[in-house]
Amino acid sequence: MKVSETTVKLLADSGNLPDEVLCALLGTNEYDAELFSAADRVRREVYGDEVYIRGLIEFTNYCKNNCYYCGIRRDNKSAVRYRLDKEEILDCCREGYRLGFRTFVLQGGEDPFFSDMRICEIVSAIREEFPDCAITLSIGEKTKESYLAFFNAGANRYLLRHETAEAGHYSRLHPKDMSLEKRKRCLFDLKEIGYQVGSGFMVGSPGQTIENLLADLRFLQELQPDMIGIGPYITHAQTPFAKCESGSLELTLRMVSVLRLMFPYALIPSTTALGTIHPKGRELGLKAGANVVMPNLSPVRVRKLYELYENKICTGEEAAQCRGCLERRVESAGYHIVTAVGNVKKPHSADKI
Ligand code: SAH
Repeated sequence: MKVSETTVKLLADSGNLPDEVLCALLGTNEYDAELFSAADRVRREVYGDEVYIRGLIEFTNYCKNNCYYCGIRRDNKSAVRYRLDKEEILDCCREGYRLGFRTFVLQGGEDPFFSDMRICEIVSAIREEFPDCAITLSIGEKTKESYLAFFNAGANRYLLRHETAEAGHYSRLHPKDMSLEKRKRCLFDLKEIGYQVGSGFMVGSPGQTIENLLADLRFLQELQPDMIGIGPYITHAQTPFAKCESGSLELTLRMVSVLRLMFPYALIPSTTALGTIHPKGRELGLKAGANVVMPNLSPVRVRKLYELYENKICTGEEAAQCRGCLERRVESAGYHIVTAVGNVKKPHSADKI
């Protein structure tokens, strides 16, 4: 079904739609130029043609969790595990700084080796050497006290995708020791502490329905995160979902556009997963309303090992090559990369939204 121009206009003007209309908008896999151009218009109104870059440092692939979709889950015995030490992480930041990065994202599995004390030491060292940079953590579920300790050490952003906002679906994707309730608690704790928070979900994860996607949107309206990261689910052979199909490019792009229209001010990355399922996936993501890219700063020797899903792109190049390649891709899509911390542009009270 082609969604009518009036629906797109209503969403663009009001930033919202009734449940049934949103489901109809998402319930099709068709390329919809109207939807994408409305999202691009709104993105340009708020952010112009600027694209923010975040340097991703995947510092450990050890994980105590066993999420059914994830290639670095505890029970994947064929994963070759690695950790970066503090000096290696600082070297990644130094190289990143030279290349124009002003945000470093430390992402990893939930690795007990990195105790709160170790994380705080690493964060303080980065904070001291790079006072003008944002430090983002993406290391999973912790207690509020731990989140507070990282914040006091100098971290100011946190990425934790909710993965799916419907409890039944959440329990299809995760073992019994994980719960949606706990995940939500973590997200609200992070907000209360004062972090800029990023959440998000996979598109096309096993068992996901259109109603689940609607629940994701409604949850995000409640959370009001600064960043929303989404990407297609991609199969990994060493997981219980080995036989499940990956998510589609089309639905992921539609979702990016709907997010841009519902959250005009959000930072929305055009993700590596999107670039993995289609050679021009990240460019298409930008054109559909995304405004952030997150190239990899990890040392090349560990790149392939942080294998959340199969055929992950950008595992062979040095950071500088990666940065150059991305610059060309962003320009080719009609935008340009800026060297800035790239905080979310919050609406002014006088704005209509
Ligand atoms: N341990 C951290 C980082 C997880 S990896 C945390 O819990 O937040 C970052 C994201 O990759 C996950 O939140 C998930 O949404 C995504 N991911 C994991 N496996 C994936 C897969 N098979 N396909 C697509 N995305 C995946």
